[in-house]
Amino acid sequence: MSTFQAPKGTYDLIPPDSAAYLAVREAIAAPLRRSGYGYVETPGFEDVELFARGVGESTDIVTKEMYVFETKGGSRLALRPEGTASVLRAALQANLHKQGLPVKLWYSGSYYRYERPQKGRYRHFSQVGAEAIGAEDPALDAELIILANDAYRSLGLSNFRILLNSLGDKECRPAYRAALQDFLRGLDLDEDTRRRIDINPLRVLDDKRPAVQAQLVGVPLLRDHLCEACKEYHEQVRELLNDAGVDFEDDPKLVRGLDYYTRTTFEFVHDGLGSQSAVGGGGRYDGLSEMIGGPALPSVGWALGVDRTVLALEAEGIELELPAATTVFAVPLGEEARRVLFAKVSELRRAGVAADFAYGGKGIKAAMKAANRSGARFAVVAGERDLAEGVVQLKDMRTGEQEPVALDAIVDRLRAPGA
Ligand code: AMP
Repeated sequence: MSTFQAPKGTYDLIPPDSAAYLAVREAIAAPLRRSGYGYVETPGFEDVELFARGVGESTDIVTKEMYVFETKGGSRLALRPEGTASVLRAALQANLHKQGLPVKLWYSGSYYRYERPQKGRYRHFSQVGAEAIGAEDPALDAELIILANDAYRSLGLSNFRILLNSLGDKECRPAYRAALQDFLRGLDLDEDTRRRIDINPLRVLDDKRPAVQAQLVGVPLLRDHLCEACKEYHEQVRELLNDAGVDFEDDPKLVRGLDYYTRTTFEFVHDGLGSQSAVGGGGRYDGLSEMIGGPALPSVGWALGVDRTVLALEAEGIELELPAATTVFAVPLGEEARRVLFAKVSELRRAGVAADFAYGGKGIKAAMKAANRSGARFAVVAGERDLAEGVVQLKDMRTGEQEPVALDAIVDRLRAPGA
């Protein structure tokens, strides 16, 4: 072990487990790719104000969890704690919204929050996200929920639930907020929570502590205060999900930890994950563009956590069927064979066959062990005598059978489907 370790709250992705992470990212991205979402990549850090304004001054993310630093040039930057604000900033900066709406984008990357680490909660984590910018259409909200659902199903996950709520809009939320504050002020709550009543009362609904939840019986719910437009919009989202055969649960207390959400909000929770059960979430953010200085662009999006999705797979005992990284492993015996087989390995790779080589001048025993460990279906072994005869030995690692194949024919032979 070296003197250094990965920083607290972080971990390294290393083979073979890292393969599952890549596969999860790919599985989440695949439905987006075939639904008109284009790939966007933004910097790992942004002006701190983007998040302060975008995510919300009163959120835990902004007040407690951001990695903020000052550059030598005096700029105040923050490592990105989430993706939406950056993606919207990038879309506005590139004027994508002037080239036809909605702008549909997906992304994948690392995010940073200074949180108390525990299983499923890290200071560096990975999300795949999607945003549909600039259209107010319940079918877009439904599309995104359906695509996330499809992604999880394609991985074989089934022990998850979709929680759905509407947070209203600027018409109906202010009156509700006031009614909620009135109710909450009558409760027996600690100092911190009382402060929250003033700045972000909806978050109190989300408080997981039993002592708080017990007092929330009879709390006014936004569901009963939605304006007609929000009610109608929400009904349409629900109908479209029903039509698509996507099960969901209405959760009138679902609020989520970011301030920018309006109307549709949803969370994917997995029941095998303990306290960090949210594998993904999102919603509509109709006011965010204006909050960061852009035009009115009603939008909707989600982010799914790659780390927790991998944990969910483990919880359900799902092993992804990943193709072996290596199909052919070459084992040379002697210098001449080394030169010839190394050239063959390059040829195989160029022909699209995943191939690897016994490096390090190993003896046959160690080399065959390496071939085994690689998961390769075939080993190609050759010594001086083989080469003198113009052949290599092709060994099927599954059956153990071995046969000589002409050196000139080996690439074509291994390129054939099923080899
Ligand atoms: P949020 O951006 O908070 O809505 O989170 C969206 C998803 O990202 C969550 O459902 C988690 O899967 C994942 N996520 C958020 N924060 C963390 C974290 N600290 N560690 C691991 N995953 C996280």
